[in-house]
Amino acid sequence: MAEWIEGKIVDNTHWTENLFSLRVSAEISNFTAGQFTSLALDLEGERIARPYSFLSSPGQQPLEFFFYTATGGTLSNELVALDPGDTVLVKNQANGFFVLDEVPPCRELWMMGTGTGIAPFLSILGTEQPWERFDRIALIYAVRREADLRYLERIDQYREQHGDKFRFQAFVSREDVAGTLPGRIPAAIENGELEKQIGLEMNPEQSHFMLCGNPDMVKDVTELLKSRGFRKNRRRTPGHITTENYW
Ligand SMILES: Cc1cc2nc3c(=O)[nH]c(=O)nc-3n(C[C@H](O)[C@H](O)[C@H](O)COP(=O)(O)OP(=O)(O)OC[C@H]3O[C@@H](n4cnc5c(N)ncnc54)[C@H](O)[C@@H]3O)c2cc1C
Repeated sequence: MAEWIEGKIVDNTHWTENLFSLRVSAEISNFTAGQFTSLALDLEGERIARPYSFLSSPGQQPLEFFFYTATGGTLSNELVALDPGDTVLVKNQANGFFVLDEVPPCRELWMMGTGTGIAPFLSILGTEQPWERFDRIALIYAVRREADLRYLERIDQYREQHGDKFRFQAFVSREDVAGTLPGRIPAAIENGELEKQIGLEMNPEQSHFMLCGNPDMVKDVTELLKSRGFRKNRRRTPGHITTENYW
């Protein structure tokens, strides 16, 4: 089958000046929640492709993606201008190991995402697997401004459906917003505030961490967790920290 499939834009939702979501109708091969595909446009005779995590769950149509328009970014600034009916190329085969099948047995799953790095977690939470596997799931979502917090209705639904099994904490770094934590995730791990707010203890016997998005967050949280006895999760040497850097 062809590597690239023609997708049709179903809608383009502009959330803020630099956040938007595309829903795309495209008949691609199945994927696993947490994986990414590539999207591409032919610009001035050149095919420009970048990886994007699925926000939609396997089997859902249209496919959904959540974007940040990078300053001066080549592809994101073209994608933001797409209208319903326009074409975008979608790679047929998904990729990536940021999936629950790579997470060793444990009781508590911590999912930490910055900005659009929330996407693979929403894809995973839209499947049965995490709810069946873990006793507790904590979703941590860090952004700069309150308006950047998106998909909160969906997150609220998980709270309603799963009660105490599901814990959620947002961080807003550049505004004071009630119910959210200020600053960055690493600082709140270091001073114990995140565990306090979530009501779970980070413990190598029972916790696994999936970190996605900004590479500074991924690196800083990984270093902190390592200093507390957690290890990177590798295929040959299973551990506690599974990561996906967006740049
Ligand atoms: C596995 C993987 C999955 C990804 N999934 C997503 C996704 O779901 N949504 C998404 O918006 N991007 C995602 N990205 C990033 C995406 O592939 C592009 O890098 C991004 O859209 C910028 O491309 P560009 O051509 O517009 O900019 P470029 O000219 O390629 O500029 C890239 C620069 O933009 C900044 N940047 C890139 N991505 C982001 C971001 N998400 N938030 C803030 N700043 C960013 C970085 O400083 C980076 O150096 C993912 C990257 C990887 C590796």
